[in-house]
Amino acid sequence: MSKYITKQRKILTEYLSKHVDENISANQIALALADKISKSAVYRNLADMESEGKIRRAPNSSQREAVYRYLDDERCRECLHLSCKKCGKTYHMQTSVANSLITSVAENENFSIDKGETVLYGVCAKCQNSGKSENGIRE
Ligand SMILES: [Zn+2]
Ligand SMILES: [Zn+2]
Repeated sequence: MSKYITKQRKILTEYLSKHVDENISANQIALALADKISKSAVYRNLADMESEGKIRRAPNSSQREAVYRYLDDERCRECLHLSCKKCGKTYHMQTSVANSLITSVAENENFSIDKGETVLYGVCAKCQNSGKSENGIRE
């Protein structure tokens, strides 16, 4: 029985590792893997992985439509993440910018930021520009 569960987990992990830092709903994952894993098994495995800290649930996701983000162990734990509210993409903040932010908060607020856990929400460069250059005007 444990062998069967491990196999489901492997398929799920393989799928998620191709979507590092993307916000994907449990439903999207279940649909993508529909021919391999049952929906209930997807939900059960996601819940397990969440409690193990392998994936994070987006704070604005509801109980019905849980949205997850898979972390790349090596890179993501040392990065501050920027999440675009328009396109849903996640970016890694430049290390120098992240460090000066963390240092500044530590010194002024006496608060130690947990890098891997922290996501800043906003609008990415691409989405900011797509609004402006609509009519092709430059400068
Ligand atoms: Zn990351
Ligand atoms: Zn964007």
